Amino acid sequence: MSEPYDLSSNETFEEVAAMFEQVFEGTSTECLPATELEPLREHITRLTEGHKIEWDEKSMGFLDARGSFEDGPSWIATPLVDSELAYLVALHEIGHIVLRLDSFEDATDSGQPVRLYANEAAVWEWALDNSMIAPSTDAAEKIAVFLLTDDPGEGRQEALQRVRARISDVRARLTST
Ligand SMILES: [Zn+2]
Repeated sequence: MSEPYDLSSNETFEEVAAMFEQVFEGTSTECLPATELEPLREHITRLTEGHKIEWDEKSMGFLDARGSFEDGPSWIATPLVDSELAYLVALHEIGHIVLRLDSFEDATDSGQPVRLYANEAAVWEWALDNSMIAPSTDAAEKIAVFLLTDDPGEGRQEALQRVRARISDVRARLTST
């Protein structure tokens, strides 16, 4: 499989930003037929209820998905779960809550929040371990882009490698019966 986002750890924000638009188009963002979608939606519902997470599902960009496990009941806000990628993003947000791992360090004096790449990798690993489907190539590429949407930082390249390895694992798990 080609690795179109196998970038160095120091490309500019502009270079990464140029990849953004690719996140919103592609087979993994297309609406799935109801028969494929229903089990995925039921899975997200089951997980959010099981972990007592309020799920705010609404029309929003993939990069705007978020959640919180501090200050009151845990919650996640995700795009409508109607596609492969939306399902994986919802799993990722649940993973943040279950593992209690933040995406960012508290803002520094410079005001620039620091992305916690090791946390992001661990949360994607959780999401992939719990996924009912093996990510398509298109979804795998977009997951890589999600890891590139902030300034290059410590651990980003390692996080990419961890997530790619786990995608291979989940493919092996779900295709060998
Ligand atoms: Zn995250």
